[in-house]
Amino acid sequence: MDLKEFVTIVPDYPKEGISFKDISTIMDNGKAYKFATDEIVKFAKEVETDIIVGPEARGFIIGCPVAYALEAGFAPVRKPGKLPRETIEVEYDLEYGKDVLTIHKDAIKPGQRVLIVDDLLATGGTIGATIELVEKLGGIVAGCAFIIELSYLDGRNKLKGYDMRSLITY
Ligand code: 5GP
Repeated sequence: MDLKEFVTIVPDYPKEGISFKDISTIMDNGKAYKFATDEIVKFAKEVETDIIVGPEARGFIIGCPVAYALEAGFAPVRKPGKLPRETIEVEYDLEYGKDVLTIHKDAIKPGQRVLIVDDLLATGGTIGATIELVEKLGGIVAGCAFIIELSYLDGRNKLKGYDMRSLITY
């Protein structure tokens, strides 16, 4: 299946000059959604995944069906103030300013092999911070999987040394 056909390019969203890759048109097609999930499940098995971690919000859409298929757990990474119990946090750079991501302190057990998933890899800021959270808890990053990679933003280079897989590249 050519998954790229199911991505909708939205010009000038969320602001002028940005060409947004909308994956909701993968998700609302049962066959395309299953295909994307199955491809990531294959990768998850290759890298021997114990648990899936995904950043809010689209990381949940991708990560949860993968976790279900593997009979593995899923641990959410969220913006500050959204997780109810004790968390650790990591600050990371945005184009303008900074942001923070958090994870429950007991979400990952030391030595667990973690597959990190998100819908899209752009500059790598979000995934870099997610990797840092996982490693702070003693998890081993088994790999990172994305539906889409924007190769011209060079996120992959920033995250050298990790096993990265994306289903579609622009
Ligand atoms: P990064 O941190 O790698 O620069 O940006 C990736 C994050 O921004 C991902 O969590 C992703 O959801 C979001 N993002 C940035 N651009 C796009 C886009 O064009 N389409 C989608 N679906 N998400 C995007």
